[in-house]
Amino acid sequence: AEAQLRQSQKMEAVGQLTGGIAHDFNNMLTGIMGALDIIKRRLASGRLEGLDRFMDAATGSAQRAAGLTHRLLAFSRRQPLDQKPVDVRQLITDMRDLFDRSLSEQIELLIRPAPDCWAATTDLNQLENALLNLAINARDAMPDGGQLSVDTRNVTLAPGDVPSLSRRGQETQDFVAITVRDTGTGMSAEILEKVFEPFFTTKPIGQGTGLGLSMVYGFAQQSGGGVEIESKLGQGTAITLYLPRSLADSTPDIPDGALVPAGAG
Ligand code: ADP
Repeated sequence: AEAQLRQSQKMEAVGQLTGGIAHDFNNMLTGIMGALDIIKRRLASGRLEGLDRFMDAATGSAQRAAGLTHRLLAFSRRQPLDQKPVDVRQLITDMRDLFDRSLSEQIELLIRPAPDCWAATTDLNQLENALLNLAINARDAMPDGGQLSVDTRNVTLAPGDVPSLSRRGQETQDFVAITVRDTGTGMSAEILEKVFEPFFTTKPIGQGTGLGLSMVYGFAQQSGGGVEIESKLGQGTAITLYLPRSLADSTPDIPDGALVPAGAG
């Protein structure tokens, strides 16, 4: 019954949203048509100076609309994950540049993977995407600057330890936990309740789609893990992704020297 209730709440949210999207999309089209109309009249009367301003406005609106459909498609497609062992320590170290470019100068970036970080079984591209989404949300929550940190922990969880985690069976299971923490605005209880709903956003039209966290959530669940959020209004937010440990990284119990690399000798 609870699952049913959740399903019907979801459908209601989808209905509200569709309306919201149509509204946003309409605004973008209105912008394009308005600009085109001005361009047409200016062309007819030969007033060409300053025309590029309207051309840029039309292009900008069209780009925002394209961005919105792109994200909607990516969201509805929900491609199957390409699950492989991912070296999480390596991945987040390699993402430093990407993070840096997405942040403002007033944000201090700390990337601190655990030295003994386990590998995770997940989709490398989608994990990268999810982390970038979290970093951008963190940036938006710190308009006056602050600190963004990315840490990892190896955790062994028993069922119920992290309630939001999708868990099969009763055994304990190993996870790689990746926490993205900011010192930003934090969220109120009302906002916190809704953040995973697709299309829920508190950002202005054109800036937020409300798809970021619902995609992160779907991805983590599909990976066999989950997401946990801790947030304090005025203090900041920590979002932790739990991804199942890959055993592919564990060194087999073979004495030194017994492993001969392929192609060697
Ligand atoms: P979007 O970023 O497009 O709004 P998301 O699904 O990523 O969509 O986020 C939904 C909402 O959750 C945001 O609009 C914001 O209100 C809130 N939020 C997400 N991450 C943070 C954060 N790190 N700090 C404060 N609020 C956040």
